[in-house]
Amino acid sequence: MLTINTLENIRLNAQVYLKPEYLIHPRVSGNKFRKLKYNLQKAQSENYKGILTFGGAFSNHIAATAAAGQALNIPTVGVIRGEELASKIDQNPTLRYAKSCGMHLEFVSRSTYKDKTTPEYLKTLLEIFKDFYIIPEGGTNALAIKGCQEILTETDQQFDVICCSVGTGGTLTGLINSSLPSQKIIGFPALKGGFLNEDICKFATQSNWELWEAYHFGGYAKVDSKLITFMNHFKATYNIPLDPVYTAKMMYGIFDAIQTGQIPKEAKVLAIHTGGLQGIEGMNLRLKQKQLQTIV
Ligand SMILES: *Cc1c(COP(=O)(O)O)cnc(C)c1O
Repeated sequence: MLTINTLENIRLNAQVYLKPEYLIHPRVSGNKFRKLKYNLQKAQSENYKGILTFGGAFSNHIAATAAAGQALNIPTVGVIRGEELASKIDQNPTLRYAKSCGMHLEFVSRSTYKDKTTPEYLKTLLEIFKDFYIIPEGGTNALAIKGCQEILTETDQQFDVICCSVGTGGTLTGLINSSLPSQKIIGFPALKGGFLNEDICKFATQSNWELWEAYHFGGYAKVDSKLITFMNHFKATYNIPLDPVYTAKMMYGIFDAIQTGQIPKEAKVLAIHTGGLQGIEGMNLRLKQKQLQTIV
């Protein structure tokens, strides 16, 4: 079993605290560890032959699954969106890392990838990868939510507002389910649109939450110079790195909402740092190619 480091919340200022989930394990970062924990236990105890999961070229979930598989000696398969990437593994830090952990990368076309949840396609995959345990894209399922319900501890009951970045919504749902009804859970989607509300409602046991959709910066893995400047300033001020896909957008949103009064000045806020720092290298390669400001 992988062990989780327990860490104290870090105080940023009088109002905002940060939960350093990015430090819970040296290689399996943040919320992806929480989401994998019970899935890996099940795969091991029920003698599955390995783990098969899905992701894009910069996926934190792919990197985390590869690292966890290596640490536990469980074979892993990553079904990767985009056939063209097969010849570019060495230029992509996330895929290169996953491969170095021993993950088998299976590149598929974008149209095949769209079938990633259909029973027919999963059956085809299981014919090749017999007795593998399947985890969906982004790692969200009921066991993942169970793992994310362990992020908040008793000392976190002092906070009025708890903030988290949102991809599939699994992490947010875990926070909702383990919070007090009097606490407000705010999710900051890192992508545009989608069916998040429905997905969260499916597993959420309380209604003390909201999605604040104004801070996606154009969509998934999209950034602008305002965001990069904010990240670099944040790191210089607090000595805490943020990732460009998720946590930077949440943190930007929190400070903006406090300034505009959407979050009241007297509210005590806990921001969950869900990790994702492995994505910085890949983002910086893209920014450099476009001759834009990079993340320090
Ligand atoms: C995947 C990820 C998220 C989103 O988690 P979901 O459970 O899919 O909403 C947030 N932050 C980081 C750093 C992530 O890697």
